[in-house]
Amino acid sequence: MSSYAPPVQRLVSELSKLPGIGTRTAQRLAFHILRASDEDAYALAGAIREVKERIGLCEVCYNLTDEARCRICQDTRRDHGLICVVEEPGDVIPMERTHEYSGVYHVLGGALSPIDGIDPEDLKIAELYARVVDPAAGQPPVREVVLATNPTTTGEATALHIAHELSERAPELTVTRLASGLPVGSDLEYADEVTLGKAFAGRTAL
Ligand SMILES: [Zn+2]
Repeated sequence: MSSYAPPVQRLVSELSKLPGIGTRTAQRLAFHILRASDEDAYALAGAIREVKERIGLCEVCYNLTDEARCRICQDTRRDHGLICVVEEPGDVIPMERTHEYSGVYHVLGGALSPIDGIDPEDLKIAELYARVVDPAAGQPPVREVVLATNPTTTGEATALHIAHELSERAPELTVTRLASGLPVGSDLEYADEVTLGKAFAGRTAL
């Protein structure tokens, strides 16, 4: 690796910081980029720069957006009295693919994990309580919160924590959890839409 020219070495070292990319794969990707046309290579660099400059979090649900509010929050045909809570922005996409869901979302930005030092303050949990207890002007009251955190240890712990806190703050609110049937220990992101659609339709009260 030290025999590469410094710019090549730098590219390999940046690529190897990506999840799931070891040094060998990073080298292969670097050589691919070197062989690619200028146009393709600059398009990749430009796309990385553009997402970093233009994409932020929705001020309501904390999903990714290039505007103050994401398209789902702006959509008046969706049911704003139904909130689906997910861990990551990537979890919104499989829920949307099911076509079973017409409510809005709340993206926590992770799951509770005291061992890793991830406490409620590190996630958008207080923001969820605020949405439920005190909806923004013009928004209907929230009737139901569906906890769609991953079926993992941390995802389950997060769902239980939020369900408990919501029952104290909003006793009238219905709080549900996706039905079992999702592969335990895996991420929502990898669930197929049929399984996820069934899990949503069969959600149970907590
Ligand atoms: Zn939003």
